[in-house]
Amino acid sequence: MRKQIVAGNWKMNNGLIQTESLITELKQQVKTSEAEVMIAPTFTNLWHAFQSTKNTHIEVIAQNMHFAEKGAYTGEISAGMLTSLGINTVILGHSERRAYFNETDEALAKKVDTAIAHDMRVIFCFGEELADRKAGNEDTVVENQIKNALFHLKGDAFNNIVLAYEPVWAIGTGETATPEQAQEMHAFIRKTLAEKYGNNVANNVSILYGGSVKPDNAKEIFSKPDVDGGLIGGASLKAEDFYAIVNAF
Ligand code: PGA
Repeated sequence: MRKQIVAGNWKMNNGLIQTESLITELKQQVKTSEAEVMIAPTFTNLWHAFQSTKNTHIEVIAQNMHFAEKGAYTGEISAGMLTSLGINTVILGHSERRAYFNETDEALAKKVDTAIAHDMRVIFCFGEELADRKAGNEDTVVENQIKNALFHLKGDAFNNIVLAYEPVWAIGTGETATPEQAQEMHAFIRKTLAEKYGNNVANNVSILYGGSVKPDNAKEIFSKPDVDGGLIGGASLKAEDFYAIVNAF
């Protein structure tokens, strides 16, 4: 069975005090679903978050990292720095990284390689823009994003990969893909993987949906057969909303 995952991407929100109080609130929530729960605070709060969630079911993960092992990359964070804290999962390729920080498929392919070399788990994000969907090009765009960053990998690397389909037009906009649109794209992604790596790999990879997932739409989205969870932005900043989504499975 594929893993069900709900990951909260806190983005550039919450200082130390807010991180501490949100984690305290999260720990008071009860999880009734099987879903794995992850939170991605900003780099400066990772160590604190990691310590505060020890012996809980909450995994602390990173929002990004650099592909180089170390060296003269001012302001960057390496895979080894993350694993030295005990952080073993990283989000890569978020549309905000692609749009505002010029992350290319080529750079992402290198980041994925570095993460895998460190035996980290990657939540690899991709998704079309509104103009792509309006032009009917969403499948091609998504297929290319996946091929360019991941298709150099061997099949067994996918044990470390979780995919996150996040249509850019749905991120932070309050506009979600309909459950049917999400299912259609997730099935297409799985088919694309199956064509390259076979059904075994394709059927074992968790594919998350992201983009304005909220307590009131999560259940319907998660009920679709190829949707294995969600990457949650805005709604992950409130403990109650986040757990309503976690428990929507
Ligand atoms: P959102 O963000 O839930 O606020 O739309 C999702 C994401 O960027 O991962």
